[in-house]
Amino acid sequence: NRQVTLAARPKGAPQLSDFTLQARAIPTPATGEVLLRTVFLSLDPYMRGRMSDAKSYADPVAIGQTMVGGTVSRVHASKHPDFKVGDWVLSYQGWQDYGLSNGEGLIKLDPQQVPPSYALGVLGMPGFTAYMGLLDIGQPKTGETLVVAAATGAVGAMVAQIGKLKGCRVVAIAGGAEKCAYALDKLGVDACINHKAADFAEQLAKACPAGIDVYFESVGGKVFDAVFPLLNTGARIPVCGLISQYNATALPDGPDRLGQLMGTILTKRMTVKGFIIFDDYGHRYPEFAEQMASWLQQGQLHYREQIVDGLANAPQAFIGLLQGENFGKLVVRVGTD
Ligand code: NDP
Repeated sequence: NRQVTLAARPKGAPQLSDFTLQARAIPTPATGEVLLRTVFLSLDPYMRGRMSDAKSYADPVAIGQTMVGGTVSRVHASKHPDFKVGDWVLSYQGWQDYGLSNGEGLIKLDPQQVPPSYALGVLGMPGFTAYMGLLDIGQPKTGETLVVAAATGAVGAMVAQIGKLKGCRVVAIAGGAEKCAYALDKLGVDACINHKAADFAEQLAKACPAGIDVYFESVGGKVFDAVFPLLNTGARIPVCGLISQYNATALPDGPDRLGQLMGTILTKRMTVKGFIIFDDYGHRYPEFAEQMASWLQQGQLHYREQIVDGLANAPQAFIGLLQGENFGKLVVRVGTD
């Protein structure tokens, strides 16, 4: 049973040496338990927070412990009345080949309906984040301008497409020409701006002639700097993530602009609201699951995964996620037996 454990707390960007791949015995299920074989492991930006012991909304992974994470698994052995060998389940087994469960929190998946890995993306946590953050906090209205950061990623691609379904003019922000071409062709956005371009802020202003009514924030840093002057009176800003800062070790240099930020929030009567998806919206999961599955079935959502093969490659893939190397929802194929 291979497990990727936390070897050291990263300083700045995580390094391969912050992880250890260990081999341990495959556990045996007791009465009332199942042994799960991980097939797919989700890699998500929040895992950077778990590697740190800074105070957060969730406990850190301890040094030497297996990295946490959402998984799609198959039942390998069962001593639980509700599960039989071969069943597919959504679980939270972390970065390992096998794990035990007493059945609590396991959600059965039907591989005939949709590919099981979709439960880690469009039909799971990231899709739910996009759906609630945009619709509940963003409150998009027909004809409004919605700007979406990290627009080709797991969350952003869904925000962009739901925004189009709600009748917004959607301006995507992504890292590079290839991702922008994809946002225009497949996600159907009205414009896409490459945040790596030297004149990124000017390009964004040109793409938002009527200002910005909803900004779905996942990035922060210089992306937010470019968005900020374009925000309209009454703008809504779901603060979903700040990925450009997850590896930061110090505050950036420069003048203190906090007063200007707060003043603008005041005079433009903006709504700036952070959220942690399951803590804040867990009770609305059924509504999301039904609506997203229906949009997906009707062909109204395009979904892209980047599948990396092998548990041993998870650390490198995760390091890349924090630098924009993924293109689509990042998933590791751990095993098939
Ligand atoms: P993505 O699939 O979008 O992957 C991350 C993307 O972020 C990269 O592909 C890259 O896109 C962009 N990025 C990475 N580093 C930087 C950087 N330094 N500057 C600018 N862009 C960068 O990840 P997810 O969709 O899973 O997550 C998106 C955001 O949503 C994250 O901030 C995450 O923490 C947050 N989140 C929050 C939740 C909540 O409950 N609040 C739940 C789930 C996610 P590009 O190449 O286009 O720049």
